[in-house]
Amino acid sequence: MKHNSNFYTETARTWLLDRGVTIDEIAELVFYLQKKYYEGLTHELCVEHVEAVLRKREVQNAIITGIQLDRLAEKNLLDSPLQEIIDRDEGLYGVDEIIALSIVNVYGSIGFTNYGYIDKKKPGVLQRLNDKNNGCHTFLDDIVGAIAAAASSRLAHSAENTE
Ligand code: MG
Repeated sequence: MKHNSNFYTETARTWLLDRGVTIDEIAELVFYLQKKYYEGLTHELCVEHVEAVLRKREVQNAIITGIQLDRLAEKNLLDSPLQEIIDRDEGLYGVDEIIALSIVNVYGSIGFTNYGYIDKKKPGVLQRLNDKNNGCHTFLDDIVGAIAAAASSRLAHSAENTE
């Protein structure tokens, strides 16, 4: 069955919410990353850029792939050794970061710095996703950080074009 693009957009948004991640929380990460560069930056503008990132098919693909794997790991449905790797969020695995980089890539290389920074600091929603007591979010924590990094790059590009 072939789906229209709206179906992908809606699925990605619904799945994020279903895993407890709101657009507002991702926008807060963008604000955290960009507030020192843009005087008068508003939460609403950050939301706008997050929304735009979520309309990209590459981003939707990363979301549905990552969340699917997190869900299967939570239900113990993966085969060994992938089950243990994802369940334990093993540091040397790295495929979660690669999927996240497919999101960061969409808006060019400035996103990399933001992604690395936010992944290290883990503010807000990232802290919660990183807590093992809140379920398996091996893929989702990187994906959410990457969406925020990509939205930050988009914001930077659009600010440059209006100056
Ligand atoms: Mg991870």
